[in-house]
Amino acid sequence: MKSYRKEFWFDVQARMAFINITHHVAECLEESGIKEGLVLVNAMHITASVFINDDESGLHHDYEKWLEKLAPHEPVSQYRHNTLEINGDAHLKRQVMGREVVVAITNGNLDFGPWEQIFYGEFDGRRKKRVLVKIIGE
Ligand code: ZN
Repeated sequence: MKSYRKEFWFDVQARMAFINITHHVAECLEESGIKEGLVLVNAMHITASVFINDDESGLHHDYEKWLEKLAPHEPVSQYRHNTLEINGDAHLKRQVMGREVVVAITNGNLDFGPWEQIFYGEFDGRRKKRVLVKIIGE
């Protein structure tokens, strides 16, 4: 069995943003030479997500509105977590949007359903954060 590991760094200037990272993952897969297996992609920070959905700007706007309704950033005093850092909302948003995705690899390709793309979701930006790509297979 082969195994491959790579990290990507992001420095998002907005507090919340969604970035399509599908091409990064596809490049990793090509570099790995693995034709059949699984790829895991996860955020290495507890205020960021990796998730799969449609690359459609209306949907991303809807996510932002929905997440802000579920866990509004302000008033910051509503979160007990907001003592040393003011990112209680970002932890909750990350929990809803998930930590990681796993995608099947078939014939050397990411085996997606219709319109599926991989995204990095940032909920407490303006600092450097990592995403891990781990691939195993033959
Ligand atoms: Zn925190």
